[in-house]
Amino acid sequence: MNAQRPSRDTRRTLPGRKRIALIAHDGKKQELLDWAGHWRETLAQHELLGTGTTARRVADALGLPVEGLMSGPLGGDQQIGARIAEQRLDLLIFFWDPFSPMPHDPDVKALLRLAALWNVPVACNAASADFIITSPYLSENHDVDVPDASDWVASRTQP
Ligand code: PGA
Repeated sequence: MNAQRPSRDTRRTLPGRKRIALIAHDGKKQELLDWAGHWRETLAQHELLGTGTTARRVADALGLPVEGLMSGPLGGDQQIGARIAEQRLDLLIFFWDPFSPMPHDPDVKALLRLAALWNVPVACNAASADFIITSPYLSENHDVDVPDASDWVASRTQP
């Protein structure tokens, strides 16, 4: 048994207006821009954020507000991971490049770990992103299981 695994889940409601993070590595940026352009009207119904360069390029291409965090190699992936841990992010669209090792690969792994841990839906390519963006859950409140953090903290502070 893994002693650090939270012993219990609780429920979190993903809101109808989702907070969606967009990230694309350089080799995948055009693919993400094409995907985002195709789904512009749907994305416009939600709150968008992204790593620095991706956010700027999506905002320019779509003419929509996209909150820009730090560029990925400078810590943007970690900032998005923090949003997940704070339960302030609902979907992650992350077109990572399977052909390019990155200097910030540890950050990428950390982000994907947090998304798995906090039960955040993740798309790593256009096909999976299509499935997520067309889901009926996208525009509805939707409950998901998440680790019960208070239970976990209490269990770790037992004498
Ligand atoms: P960028 O970062 O959007 O600033 O290019 C993405 C990444 O490389 O993780």
